[in-house]
Amino acid sequence: MVRAVTYDCDVLVIGGGIVGLSTAYAITRAAPGTRVTVLEKEPGPARHQTGRNSGVIHSGIYYRPGSLKARYAVRGAAEMVKFCAEYGIAHEVTGKLIVATERAELTRLHALVQRGRENGIPVRELGPAQIAEYEPEVRGLAAIQVGTTGICDYGSVAGRLADASGAEVRYGSEVVRIDRRAALGVAVRTADGSVVRGKVLVNCAGLHCDRVAMLAGDDPGMRIVPFRGEYFDLTRPDLVRGLVYPVPDPAFPFLGVHLTRGIGGGVHVGPNAVPALAREGYGWDVVRPRELAGTVSWPGAWRMAGRHWRYGAGEVRRSFSKSAFTTAVRRLLPAVTSDDLVPAAAGVRAQAVLRDGTLVDDFLIREGARAVHVLNAPSPAATASLPIGRAVARRVLALL
Ligand SMILES: Cc1cc2nc3c(=O)[nH]c(=O)nc-3n(C[C@H](O)[C@H](O)[C@H](O)COP(=O)(O)OP(=O)(O)OC[C@H]3O[C@@H](n4cnc5c(N)ncnc54)[C@H](O)[C@@H]3O)c2cc1C
Repeated sequence: MVRAVTYDCDVLVIGGGIVGLSTAYAITRAAPGTRVTVLEKEPGPARHQTGRNSGVIHSGIYYRPGSLKARYAVRGAAEMVKFCAEYGIAHEVTGKLIVATERAELTRLHALVQRGRENGIPVRELGPAQIAEYEPEVRGLAAIQVGTTGICDYGSVAGRLADASGAEVRYGSEVVRIDRRAALGVAVRTADGSVVRGKVLVNCAGLHCDRVAMLAGDDPGMRIVPFRGEYFDLTRPDLVRGLVYPVPDPAFPFLGVHLTRGIGGGVHVGPNAVPALAREGYGWDVVRPRELAGTVSWPGAWRMAGRHWRYGAGEVRRSFSKSAFTTAVRRLLPAVTSDDLVPAAAGVRAQAVLRDGTLVDDFLIREGARAVHVLNAPSPAATASLPIGRAVARRVLALL
């Protein structure tokens, strides 16, 4: 006699960051009655990337037209503002400046204007006098003003998504084993020995997504290389009115050290981008030898390091030398001194790197049997989380 399989839920989501919770929210919106369980290893939502970022609602100006990042960020920014308004989450559409401080950056700044227009984002070009009208203490040769950029608290957004989704969210539930059988769905075991069965698995494990894919028996074809972003708080927040960014280097998916007036009125300066010695390595003193060994045994990590060591060395120098960091900030904000900067909490980015050393630029979502894996969701994935959640939900519902 064949016994009927009993499932604890229809969809099992691993990861209670903004992407996992948006996915849960999108599934229950699109298919009411679908039973979703979210397993999160921490005691609450948003304890990693989602709760440790710049809190910027990105406009979408930086991203290649047609890419998932461009499409989802532009749409996601508008939806995020609406979501925050609907649920009473503090937010503001502040606009931001991207400022060229050297002649060599002017061509790149102009390319950004073009890109912004292609992505349908209104931008205003500014000369030095107009920069001073927006930001009296900021110096630059030229700048662009992007009106649709905003700020919010993504930790609160994640908490709201959890409540509004109606999903069962189990905190303190670290998935340590995954058993997937074609006819039986997916059974996961958590560190405390519980077993949860579902029909389809969704991997939104952020900094651990490659390991979770491998636990499920799928080859992700990439590895997460964790890059820490260190921040300082500006003790003279009156030096900055809003959001001020440098012109980014298009070879890297990082935006460069910026000045961000957050929702509470304080100004954050950062983040840089240095290799983290653990997936959740929020300081140089956090080293997890097994995780580090996993990173250095990935050929792509060496190839990437070989290609970008010069950029990396500069970032590491600024991590250890506050005066070097201050010098970099002074390019944008000459009045700042080392004494104006006090260390603040860091974040770690989950950046996917391919075997050939390519830093994956776009969002990356892959399917396995009865599984959907989100394998690259770095910035602007918080901004774009509502459209990302819907895209993942569509794939999940097709598998049910
Ligand atoms: C320094 C920094 C600045 C950024 N600035 C911005 C910004 O201004 N604007 C923007 O849009 N984006 C920004 N981002 C990017 C944004 O924060 C991320 O793209 C987004 O938070 C990713 O969400 P996530 O849910 O994929 O990952 P996470 O928030 O990391 O969530 C993954 C969750 O999975 C859980 N998990 C992992 N393994 C397991 C397991 N085995 N079992 C159970 N649970 C598990 C983790 O505990 C974690 O809570 C920034 C990121 C960083 C690091």
